[in-house]
Amino acid sequence: MIAFFKKYKEAMRLRHGWEVELECSKCGHYGIPAYDGWRSSRALSLGNTPQIYAKVSCAECGNGLKHEAGQKVVELFSEIAVPSKNKIFIAWFVACTVGIPLVLTALIYLGVRFGLWGWQSFTILSFMVILIGPAIMFFNYKISSMRRACECGTPAYIFMGLLGRSSCFRCSSCGRLLRMRD
Ligand SMILES: [Zn+2]
Ligand SMILES: [Zn+2]
Repeated sequence: MIAFFKKYKEAMRLRHGWEVELECSKCGHYGIPAYDGWRSSRALSLGNTPQIYAKVSCAECGNGLKHEAGQKVVELFSEIAVPSKNKIFIAWFVACTVGIPLVLTALIYLGVRFGLWGWQSFTILSFMVILIGPAIMFFNYKISSMRRACECGTPAYIFMGLLGRSSCFRCSSCGRLLRMRD
């Protein structure tokens, strides 16, 4: 079980980084910026606002390039659509974790009202609660599987930040861009 959770955690882990050239607004230098890890942020990004976690700075003058990185994410990913497979997974996820319990609750309630079964049938819902955890894990794993595969055969997706509510990735091996919801 522990091995399973370890594998799961590893599969879900995001690889942060920055491998795209930026132009420094201070000195004009154009190139791959210096990357100095990432910081977490709880700021909510809405609409088409970028959210950058990578700490990038100009390789020439050291000027922070967070704004430039954000502009780059908008430029690269605005036209990229979230794959329909990804959207279908999200829809299933919502259906299973919200829809099914709701429908079940309604069915039990109606059955009780019309005398088809007793109040104790509500205990079925507690089984649903037990199932929701693994269901969420299953969907998270399924959804994230998209960033463990690439046409180039050597997937190495680097998380570049958020654009609105979708995550932006770039394959380090081939440069393929992937935008997805999770
Ligand atoms: Zn500079
Ligand atoms: Zn690739």
